[in-house]
Amino acid sequence: MRLKGKVALITGASRGIGREIALRFAGEGATVAVNYRSNKAEADKVVSEIAAAGGRAAAYPADCSKVADIEALAKAVADDFGGTDILVNNAGVFVPMPIEDTTEADWDAQVDLNLKGPFFLVKAVVPAMKAKGGGRIVNITSIAGENGFPNASAYCGSKGGLANLTRALACELAPHRINVNAVAPGNIKTDMNAALRGPGQEAYVQMITERTPGGVPFIDPKDLTGAALFLASDDCRAMHGATLLVDEGWAAW
Ligand code: NAP
Repeated sequence: MRLKGKVALITGASRGIGREIALRFAGEGATVAVNYRSNKAEADKVVSEIAAAGGRAAAYPADCSKVADIEALAKAVADDFGGTDILVNNAGVFVPMPIEDTTEADWDAQVDLNLKGPFFLVKAVVPAMKAKGGGRIVNITSIAGENGFPNASAYCGSKGGLANLTRALACELAPHRINVNAVAPGNIKTDMNAALRGPGQEAYVQMITERTPGGVPFIDPKDLTGAALFLASDDCRAMHGATLLVDEGWAAW
């Protein structure tokens, strides 16, 4: 068990990538705080699955684009489990559209959750990590933080910002034995992009398949969990500011 005795807070863990990371970390012995925004039923399902397998978890509602919610979330996890050892900044939102159609609200929704939220989550958990003598922070960025994509400039900006925030915080927190690193997913099969895989999208899926060196247009979210686990474990103690791409080779093209 690679995370035995650790408390892991995973944002956006009711569905998709966050859910799979929560289940994997619990299987490695971590106590898991399953954050969600509104889908309590799905979050409770993750907690039940972990409990049924003999693990420990609890669900926490919080809007991770809002600082007051973030501070309350970190406090609730600390009150229940004694402080966060591993933070996975996973919650995110993707609103693709041309710049002319993008409103201030669309910009704010993406930047507030994808970039501002992770910053304030780190701020909220760092005092406890310092007090414990270290910690692990894993930011879920994107290939859209490494490459540009048309019709997704606000999302790309938020994820590119998170990629460099990872490096800046890594420099600042490394002396405290807190490792800040990132996992950059490629196209992952989750609710986030269900519309891009649905009926009428055959030509788009074909294009993605041909553009992806591995030939897999949408990766199983379970395939992200190994990279996240590595960056949450003792094996990454000499890594700071790194990004692990799990993208079937998209960014290598
Ligand atoms: P998803 O399937 O859409 O799930 C989103 C999760 O985030 C849900 O648990 C949702 O909770 C939660 N959430 C949404 N808004 C929130 C908020 N304001 N505060 C707290 N939680 C919130 O997403 P995903 O595809 O797993 O994506 C996870 C991360 O990977 C995101 O950062 C995304 O940008 C990144 N990523 C995804 C892909 C992809 O292809 N899917 C590619 C690259 C990067 P509720 O269930 O309560 O709504």
